[in-house]
Amino acid sequence: LAACGSDDDDNGTTAGGGAAATTSTGGGASGTVALLLPENKTARYESQDRPLFEAKMRELCPDCDIIYSNAEQDAAKQQSQAEAAITNGARVLVLDPVDGRAAAAIATRAKQSDIGVIAYDRAIENADIDYYISFDNEEVGRLQARTLVEGLRRMGRDSGDLVMINGAPTDPNAALFKRGAHSVLDESDFRIAKEYDTPDWSPDRAQTEMEQAITAVGRDGFVGVYAANDGTAGGAIAAMRSNGVDPSSRPTTGQDAELAAIQRIVAGDQYMTVYKAIKPEAEQAAQLAFDLLNGNTESDLVNQRIDNGTKEVPSVILTPVAVLRDNIRDTVVRDGFWSVDQICTPA
Ligand code: BGC
Repeated sequence: LAACGSDDDDNGTTAGGGAAATTSTGGGASGTVALLLPENKTARYESQDRPLFEAKMRELCPDCDIIYSNAEQDAAKQQSQAEAAITNGARVLVLDPVDGRAAAAIATRAKQSDIGVIAYDRAIENADIDYYISFDNEEVGRLQARTLVEGLRRMGRDSGDLVMINGAPTDPNAALFKRGAHSVLDESDFRIAKEYDTPDWSPDRAQTEMEQAITAVGRDGFVGVYAANDGTAGGAIAAMRSNGVDPSSRPTTGQDAELAAIQRIVAGDQYMTVYKAIKPEAEQAAQLAFDLLNGNTESDLVNQRIDNGTKEVPSVILTPVAVLRDNIRDTVVRDGFWSVDQICTPA
């Protein structure tokens, strides 16, 4: 997909996105399951995670009730939403925590009432939980950094200064992305001139950080930008534009394969993103919730055990994929994540 509007921009075949392998179907289970998501500024949560989870849950368990809450980046609010879900009869919490440490209190409260807890996408640290489902998040950071270094080399640059814009300090994933990225960048000839953590993953905040970086190092004082996700990449790119820097001359990373980011990649404004197939993540989380309703704490889906400080949590870890201009068709289009029409229709 070199550019929208060229002759061969037909849709790839839909590969179904690796739907959840079906494990137990205990039969006749019912009960209430709560999906607790952390924020709604990042597009994925309300447009993908939630509907995909709910649809799979309804398919597995037509008689189950589903409670949904979004904490809008507020850990205290998430705590009350979890308590409300418990009061309203939830037997399983599928929890994507605003704050991976603070969420231990929610897990402890749930355990007191024998309620199952699944850490969804972000870890819940130092707590007795039943399952964890996510992607290989250190690999996300390595993919971002490796692709950035390769892109810079392709532009003829073997060294230079970078700006690094990380995610929220309360999100355990942000630390993993950062660690993975550093493991590559620290070994390269590129230097991190300015580095920021971005509270709440706020794109506006990322834009301010990038403004500050440009003020500090100058418009020509950086060769590329590590941005931890597409929201922060969008902020960084906006800051470049408003400072008269052509974003296509400064490769910028991202994550989530958001439609806006894929469109920026096609336009040449963003260099890469990371595609994490949300369908299998959400659907397998629904399967795990259903397994817990049926008393199964050793689901067939489990492929790793990950220490969260309290126990080796049975985990399902999925694989992230780097997306650049030249493999958009073979990744997000082929998987049915976005169609060529969506990509080529300006927002
Ligand atoms: C998720 C990312 C998301 C970010 C901001 C992370 O925990 O893994 O997909 O972009 O949070 O919500």
